[in-house]
Amino acid sequence: MSIEELSQQITDTVDVYNPATGELVGRVTVQTPDEVDMVVQELRTHQPAWEALGPKARASWLRKLRNWLLDNEAHLVDEIRAETGKPRTEAVLEVMFVCDAINYYASRAHKYLADERVRPHGLLTASKKLLKIYRPYPVVGIVTPWNFPLLIPGVDAVPALLAGAAVIIKPSEVTPLSTVALVRGWQEIGGPPVFAHVTGRGATGAAVVDAVDMVQFTGSTKTGRAIAARAGERLIPCSVELGGKDPAIVLADADLERAANGITWGGLVNSGQACISVERVYVEAPVYDQFVSLVTKQVELLRHDTNGEEANSADVGALATGEQVKIVVDHVDSAIALGAKTLTGGAPSKTGTFFEPTILVDVDHSMVCMREETFGPTIPIMKVTDVDEAIRLANDSDFGLSATVWTKNRRKGLAIARRLEVGAVNINDAYANLFCFGLPFGGWKGSGLGARLGGAQGIRKFCRQKGITVPRVPTMKDEILWYPYTDRRGTTAAKVLRLLTARGSRRLSPDHRSSRQQPE
Ligand code: NAD
Repeated sequence: MSIEELSQQITDTVDVYNPATGELVGRVTVQTPDEVDMVVQELRTHQPAWEALGPKARASWLRKLRNWLLDNEAHLVDEIRAETGKPRTEAVLEVMFVCDAINYYASRAHKYLADERVRPHGLLTASKKLLKIYRPYPVVGIVTPWNFPLLIPGVDAVPALLAGAAVIIKPSEVTPLSTVALVRGWQEIGGPPVFAHVTGRGATGAAVVDAVDMVQFTGSTKTGRAIAARAGERLIPCSVELGGKDPAIVLADADLERAANGITWGGLVNSGQACISVERVYVEAPVYDQFVSLVTKQVELLRHDTNGEEANSADVGALATGEQVKIVVDHVDSAIALGAKTLTGGAPSKTGTFFEPTILVDVDHSMVCMREETFGPTIPIMKVTDVDEAIRLANDSDFGLSATVWTKNRRKGLAIARRLEVGAVNINDAYANLFCFGLPFGGWKGSGLGARLGGAQGIRKFCRQKGITVPRVPTMKDEILWYPYTDRRGTTAAKVLRLLTARGSRRLSPDHRSSRQQPE
């Protein structure tokens, strides 16, 4: 055996399978920390020229990438489906979402990154022109999960690149192929060498965190905590988008049909493998039976498959891994052991990693299905006596990503939205906030630190801010506060400062004031 063959054999690799069929669909190398370092060093050398291009030129590169995504949509959709087992419609959505994010940020980057004039706040600083400027973190590391293998890397890489940073992505070892395709797209359009990927497992992700200047992480709360701790040690910023256990609250006055349709989709889209899936439902007692019956009928109608070649041959696809199926089985079985009932579904199905779309009732907060992230096609529903009980239960969670409220009374809906301890609330809708790029998308409590999107903030988070003062008038040889500290200069400075900072009678000198009134 030649040395080359031997070294090829000892190179660690990850096999990528279609979870719906078990078919091997790809293989990627596990890159070592040294290799990660080399990629990051290379990115560092090219980043200054990328930043120097300015936001408008960078935007035109991103628009070329958008066109490439559109031209290669069919191939990308196949790639996403091959490594996730999701229905075609959901894979198409990933491509379009990234295109929309490019459109949004490419047309606004120059405005969001422009120098800002800041008004001096008083006479003391009135002689200065004040500027706030944005400079990118040179290399941003993006570490991503498996549930949206193109959407998540894309939606984070777009604003980071537009900010002028170089970007390295470490995709999930379960679904690396879509990211590899995205970066290949950048190379095919001839994009500057400031966008790269590395592949591997957690250790490769950890090496990225150790090498970059800012981390954008999406994944589990457990990994998010480890990354935030490491970023803290390195004193680099991180934004972590983590898991959720999103509640839905259905009020007695809701349009029940819309609520049933919306919650069915919001709970089961992407086979429930989304951070903002509806994971638990609280329904006011007077409409509980009717809601449960409507939602059960909806779920029973769903076609549970994935691999049909026709565009819309399936509604609910496979789960991404066998491990994920085990978690869902555990949540459902342990709920049943404690008294819950399934009205439809409740078990793995077919070959591969399918789990039947499931409605659970008679659930309560002693059950893991109401407390921990299930990340599967289950909708547990609980009856509540009133809105206050619904809000108390909705807030009784370690997570705080998003929530939905279903009512015909929009004022009431808004009042409830304000009381929920989550980063986003959709009234009479599910997932809607995800498509509103002007709104921040981030979790409270165990669901994350920081946020993505959110208009200007979504691009500025990849930048360091710098404050600059520029004299507006000719300067003197020295300033009254500079050395030497003499009695005369000190007294004058104290008087001037008091005059500028104090208000009312306190503007007078301390001596004058003490003869007129006692200090408080
Ligand atoms: P995960 O935390 O297991 O892995 C995510 C990524 O982190 C992978 O690329 C993995 O290789 C890498 N990784 C693992 N250990 C690491 C370490 N020590 N240092 C650096 N990188 C490391 O998550 P997952 O199972 O792939 O994804 C599912 C989770 O993602 C769910 O909890 C879901 O809610 C969450 N998620 C959150 C959002 C959001 O925006 N809030 C969006 C999608 C998914």
